[in-house]
Amino acid sequence: MNLPHFTYNPNAYALDLFETNEGECSICHEQRSLQYVGSFYSIEEPDYICPWCIANGKAAEKYDGEFNDYCGIEGVAVMPGDEESSIPKGLLDEICTRTPSYFSWQQEAWLTHCHTPCAFVGYADSEMIEPLLDELKDDIDSLGINSELIKNNLTTDGHLVGYLFQCLTCKQHRLHVDFD
Ligand SMILES: [Zn+2]
Ligand SMILES: [Zn+2]
Repeated sequence: MNLPHFTYNPNAYALDLFETNEGECSICHEQRSLQYVGSFYSIEEPDYICPWCIANGKAAEKYDGEFNDYCGIEGVAVMPGDEESSIPKGLLDEICTRTPSYFSWQQEAWLTHCHTPCAFVGYADSEMIEPLLDELKDDIDSLGINSELIKNNLTTDGHLVGYLFQCLTCKQHRLHVDFD
């Protein structure tokens, strides 16, 4: 059976977001072998979420939960008085309720571009972003830390972690960074 594809997390199965594990999905009650182990924010916690119940929105619906925090999406109105996001509501919903999250040890963020959410490409270290430095310059400059650190010390699992995104409309890469 083909696994569902996630538009905004196209590499989800290659990342650490699913584990091979036989079990019954808490939502569809089918016997599944791939369990979602990423974040899911809900009051009651499902024991087992399968990829299909993420993709079709059933897990989020049944548990009234979110895989990604709405307020973490770049450009959404968080505070009263904030300008409304120019991103269509349906796409914001897709990020929150039908897209696997990724692992971060601080505030998760979902970057946007061209009035749409970007796709999460994966965790990124200095070597991976090296060919993309021109595209990522604005993001790196806006971090408020020495850009040499990003160019030399970015890792996928240390104290300076890169998260690479890409705009699906214009293909521009974007970078989010967690640091102490
Ligand atoms: Zn399921
Ligand atoms: Zn774009």
